Amino acid sequence: MRSRRCPCGTGLPLAECCGRLHDGTATAGTAEQLMRSRFSAFAVGDANYLLATWYPATRPRTLDLDPDVRWTALDVLATTGGTLLSAEGTVEFRAHYVRDGAAGSQHENSRFARDDGNWRYLDGVSLT
Ligand SMILES: [Zn+2]
Repeated sequence: MRSRRCPCGTGLPLAECCGRLHDGTATAGTAEQLMRSRFSAFAVGDANYLLATWYPATRPRTLDLDPDVRWTALDVLATTGGTLLSAEGTVEFRAHYVRDGAAGSQHENSRFARDDGNWRYLDGVSLT
């Protein structure tokens, strides 16, 4: 069986890209890496990873993923901070999906912060 391409769009197999973060063998060095891994988690339906990478203060108690939405592609548009040496960062992105056969996209600026040294998703602002 051929290995699945990572949904985040690097062109790498999932197991060599965001899959390493999903299974805990690697951690995100930058906010963008975490953002990409969270998009891939949406794409593969890994709600536990999404909750685990949410900043504790803003994390919902539960997360229900919409089974009618299929996440298809990610465009990272801009980043601020979020480097190996940063404590905070933002990632602006457009995430593409298909719902009931219709294509759509979500444009958002997400904020990330470190918790105990690890990058976590803080919150996001929808852009149009
Ligand atoms: Zn990836």
